[in-house]
Amino acid sequence: MKEIQNSVSPEILSQAVDRFVGYAKIWTTSDGESTSSPSTARQLELSKILSSDLKVLGAKEIFEKNGNLVAKFSSRGPCSNVPPLVLCAHMDTAAECSGKGVLPQHIYEYDGSSIHLKNDVVIDPKDSKELLRYVGTHIITGDGTTLLGSDDKAGLAAICTVMQILESQNIPHGPIEVVFNTDEEIARGIADVPLEHIEARCGLTVDGQEMGLYEYENFNAVTAHFHIHGVAVHPGSAKNKMVNAIQLVNTLMSLLPGNEFPEASEGKDGFFCPVHIDGTMTDLTLTLLVRDFSEENMYIRIERLKTIAKAVENSFPGVRIECSFEWSYRNMRATLEKHPELLEIVKEAIEKAGVTPHNTPIRGGTDGAHFAEKGIGLVNMFTGGHELHGPKEWLSVAAFEKSIASTVNVVSLWAKKHS
Ligand SMILES: [Zn+2]
Repeated sequence: MKEIQNSVSPEILSQAVDRFVGYAKIWTTSDGESTSSPSTARQLELSKILSSDLKVLGAKEIFEKNGNLVAKFSSRGPCSNVPPLVLCAHMDTAAECSGKGVLPQHIYEYDGSSIHLKNDVVIDPKDSKELLRYVGTHIITGDGTTLLGSDDKAGLAAICTVMQILESQNIPHGPIEVVFNTDEEIARGIADVPLEHIEARCGLTVDGQEMGLYEYENFNAVTAHFHIHGVAVHPGSAKNKMVNAIQLVNTLMSLLPGNEFPEASEGKDGFFCPVHIDGTMTDLTLTLLVRDFSEENMYIRIERLKTIAKAVENSFPGVRIECSFEWSYRNMRATLEKHPELLEIVKEAIEKAGVTPHNTPIRGGTDGAHFAEKGIGLVNMFTGGHELHGPKEWLSVAAFEKSIASTVNVVSLWAKKHS
């Protein structure tokens, strides 16, 4: 029995790669336009396979709703009092690039040069610098006509392999709830997860990217809607009377600070991002995304937008501007801070796998943010996938191995800490 994993045996790793390739070949692109659940029936095919794989791996009970799975694994060894942990990954792939007929290509000993695929797709280490970390090791790509789907089939395969290692090496652990969900890429990742069967209050999503990276912070996200009513007058006799709503958008946008747009922001900066405009000179709607890591700052941003709308309205007699604000998701950090030991364990688990851990805030949302709203704090673990959502996507098997080892270590260290 080896409770802490620095690496995965070649035999188990090769099974993990086969598992990943098998999942990657199944077409599971989600569709934001669809109103059904899952958004595409094709996701159900993978869901059925995952359900039977989880059964073989020893799941005691599996709950399913519209393709979403919650599989319960009992504790092992003297760990029945250890609090349960969630391990979560998603089965859909992004719609930006075809996910139909994925043909994974293996480069067993990457030599550091550009990788040429069909359709003149070139993965150049000049653009994809992380590649150079993996010279001499095994890389998997698509064939250039599709994405690869390491996001997040690498996560699915990693979690199944973690369950296999815990079982085959008889590693003591607390109860584990494996959650495999649909439609993460269209932000409906937890809509139909049978949450009533999840007892754990924290755990991991295995849905990250470069080796060593773990994430526990994401944007707070608000969508701001402006409804602008101008003043209509025949253009021939409009002098000093007409107020054109299209011109009002210009005025409104010019009052936003130019250095607070996405194209001028990075790291922990927040931003305003106009995303949609629709209407006429008398009646127009403008939609902005508002993002900030701090909830306090988010409320300040909302107040600023209200003040700007008021100022424009007051400068032009007869104009009306209504604004409304809608929360999309919140920073998961607050939920995770209730489990400070988990963050420490994740860091130690990655170190024990022989990798330097680092974390960066996610400049977007994640499944974890939606789970956080339900009181479940999930740290996002790397998978080794890169250039996601496009034909240049690639997976480092060396990093994938470390993702598996790190996740086993999280489970194992969590059990030690609580028993
Ligand atoms: Zn993902």
